[in-house]
Amino acid sequence: MATITVTNPATGETVGEVQQATAADVDEAFARARGAQRQWAALPARKRARVLRRFAKVVVDKRDELLDLIQSENGKNRASALEEVMDVALTSLYYAQTGPKATRTRGRFTALPLVSSTREQRPPKGVVGVIAPFNYPLALAVSDAVPALIAGNAVVVKPDSQTPLSALRAAELLREAGLPEDVFIVVPGSGAEVGQAIVRQCDFLMFTGSTATGKKLAAQAGERLIDYSMELGGKNPMIVADDAPLERAINAATHACFSNSGQLCISIERIYVHRAVADDFIAGFVDRTTQMRVGAGRDWGIDMGSQISKEHTDKIAMLVDDALTHGARALTGGHRTGETFFEPTILTDVPADAALYTQEVFGPVVYIEVVDSLDQAVEKANDTEYGLNASVWASAATGRRLAKRLEAGTVNINDGYAPAWSAMGAPMGGWKQSGAGRRHGEHGITKFTEPRNVTRMRGVTVGGVMDFARRRLR
Ligand code: NAD
Repeated sequence: MATITVTNPATGETVGEVQQATAADVDEAFARARGAQRQWAALPARKRARVLRRFAKVVVDKRDELLDLIQSENGKNRASALEEVMDVALTSLYYAQTGPKATRTRGRFTALPLVSSTREQRPPKGVVGVIAPFNYPLALAVSDAVPALIAGNAVVVKPDSQTPLSALRAAELLREAGLPEDVFIVVPGSGAEVGQAIVRQCDFLMFTGSTATGKKLAAQAGERLIDYSMELGGKNPMIVADDAPLERAINAATHACFSNSGQLCISIERIYVHRAVADDFIAGFVDRTTQMRVGAGRDWGIDMGSQISKEHTDKIAMLVDDALTHGARALTGGHRTGETFFEPTILTDVPADAALYTQEVFGPVVYIEVVDSLDQAVEKANDTEYGLNASVWASAATGRRLAKRLEAGTVNINDGYAPAWSAMGAPMGGWKQSGAGRRHGEHGITKFTEPRNVTRMRGVTVGGVMDFARRRLR
């Protein structure tokens, strides 16, 4: 039986061995999940919500253990791991509170109000497949499953094979919170075998990962005519306006760009700063960045951990070298400092023919361009195939004005990414090549349901009503 050896990329230590699932294991997982789902769906939604509310508490109670686990399989710093734990708890509480109402049966408009009544019902899809990436091994494997579960679905999850431990532990904690057996099943393994087996049989596909994989899977979902949500890549811009609260922008920029070692779909990889404030902003941002502490371990003072793997660090180094060869300058950073560590890097003078000018790096690398007007900043910000997140530093009026013109699923005014992400009441997702569908908000749970319109006639039929109308009109 094949196993996956999980290694801490920050230290090289082995942190676990898990059994690698096969396509046959996925078939079996779906059979079990289908059986368990019927009973789970038969419970009232508020009872299902109660389990997820308890789960939020369990997660918060066990936060230290979870932080250790996330860090050990991913290499990230502790503060970035905390974002995951908080996300899972917040999502669970949010949907436990709002999910039952969002999916309840509602009376709807009918053309014949006196003789008919229409009800919109929202039964679950069935078994939802979740395929998750390595960068948030707890949050991205679990948080999207939460609304699916409250809506009455069972979930089969494939975490990235580099980071399966957090999802496996979450399955145990869900059981501890009262989730019945087989309603949430984790199948660690490769995309080619396990991921594909999920895509072949799930009733809804919730995918988070690269745009290239997302497009393939969306085409396959299209073949089966199943619905899906795709949360994909980004090349997220930040605009610093001439009326920006500069000190705050300088202090927040390191978090916006280098959080989670830059392996964050909504982190900032391009900055457009107005010429009037450019010198001060750049000097301050470079200064803060050079003070960042990069390293391994549980010390809360570490600002940035490792990258996920040597191969991923190779890719980052290659993109930065390519930019430097094309004439870019590094204002700070620009080098790897070990197999899996890369310095937080600020580039400038990046020419349009450098690959990272348009391509997502998914590492701690940002470039700055000075612009002469905010129109120019917006034009450059939108000049991308992506449209995931944007950040604007400006007065309230300027910020709102610019936000309206930005082609992005989330716009954070006077912060980098976290406020819009954690505003669970509003939808979050990507424009253009950054995704299809949304997470969060009401849609973030109703997408896991199959609407059914049940209309009942009282005493007459539509044919009868039409005959009556015809006779009157004659
Ligand atoms: P990836 O697409 O390579 O892999 C993501 C997941 O898909 C993994 O579990 C992988 O095993 C699986 N997979 C790969 N090929 C598959 C296939 N043919 N069939 C089924 N499953 C398959 O992505 P990655 O490099 O691990 O993640 C980084 C990317 O994810 C970045 O582009 C990042 O921006 C994006 N991302 C997006 C969001 C978001 O919310 N929009 C969040 C996190 C990451």
